[in-house]
Amino acid sequence: MTGDGTRAVRAGLPAAEAYQPPMPGPVFAAHFHLPGDPADATYGYGREGNPTWTGLERAVAELESPGEEAHAVVFPSGMAAIAAVLMGLLRPGDTAVLPSDGYQLLPRLRERLETTGVRVRTAPTGGDAQLTALDGDDDGRLRLLWLETPSNPGLDVCDIRRLADAAHARGALVAVDNTLATPLGQRPLDLGADLSVASGTKAFSGYGDVLLGYVACRDPERAGEIRRWRTTTGAILGPMEAWLAHRGLGTLHLRVERQQTNALAVAAALRERPEVTSVRYPGLTDDPAHPVAVRQMRRFGCVVSFVLPDPEHAERFLAALRLVDDATSFGGVRSTAERRGRWGGDAVPTGFIRFSAGVEDPEDLVADVCRALEVAGAEVSPGANRAT
Ligand SMILES: *Cc1c(COP(=O)(O)O)cnc(C)c1O
Repeated sequence: MTGDGTRAVRAGLPAAEAYQPPMPGPVFAAHFHLPGDPADATYGYGREGNPTWTGLERAVAELESPGEEAHAVVFPSGMAAIAAVLMGLLRPGDTAVLPSDGYQLLPRLRERLETTGVRVRTAPTGGDAQLTALDGDDDGRLRLLWLETPSNPGLDVCDIRRLADAAHARGALVAVDNTLATPLGQRPLDLGADLSVASGTKAFSGYGDVLLGYVACRDPERAGEIRRWRTTTGAILGPMEAWLAHRGLGTLHLRVERQQTNALAVAAALRERPEVTSVRYPGLTDDPAHPVAVRQMRRFGCVVSFVLPDPEHAERFLAALRLVDDATSFGGVRSTAERRGRWGGDAVPTGFIRFSAGVEDPEDLVADVCRALEVAGAEVSPGANRAT
């Protein structure tokens, strides 16, 4: 098997052909020319398939499952991919176990599921709560365990293999939201999950210029079911977005490698600061998530989280940064940070910062973060006690 970089620059692309570009251009077609019997056609109506999606889907499958054949279905956002699994696979009377600390729109999907008669239990990502939550009153109809690891934004990690074994023993499927790690950081299908689902909007596409999602799995019938959901609901990706994301994969290996270096450097620097508490990064050897993370992750991702004394202090820090944009989302080539509490959707302290390390030079990034902390600390927030 080749290495990650070698795989990333070729993933999903056709074999090189003389005098042809190495990457075919995007195909813009609402319908395809259909001489003869349309049943034999690979592409017919644009909602069902497009060669540019196919290229990206092959790439996703190769990266999520390099050793064994897999199938991927791309969507116009991560939420569309998540909805395809939760709403497309669950039936009235089924039970699903979801993380209580997962992506902030999961609770809204949960409400929708419950109105259709799906039963939902939730449990936090850290500790053994998810394992315990598999056992409950569900008439033997536990159908799906949904995991998000590392969780966003809390950065807890759960043991995919152990939970997958336990869920399979109860007859349930296991899906993992692999957004934060990317397939180069973690391969849920190798760890026993049935589905790897992600928002490609973040580190996977990496340039902050597309929204995208995907579902990858090894069972061709399940992939077909997800694909039929896409055709039926019409949740399709534009060819240009698919093409941009595919083009960006050629640097995925370089990006995630540098992001990890930068995230570690920033986390280590934050640790030295008295006003900074609760620094979390699964790559720090003494992080509570590290023992599990080091067993199942190949790279630890770009997100570092920490807490500043109060919201004003956090806002002053964000305003003082010069190399880090005050912006939501994560995984881009430029570092970003935000005070997560401003959205109100996550159970985090008011001074909680989610920091996404980009691909800048680590020395520059650390210097900028330390300088901004100095600026933010020089002024005392109204009502806060000056540290002694
Ligand atoms: C952003 C995100 C999503 C949603 O993806 P979109 O592409 O924004 O729809 C889902 N899960 C996680 C972990 C995310 O960070």
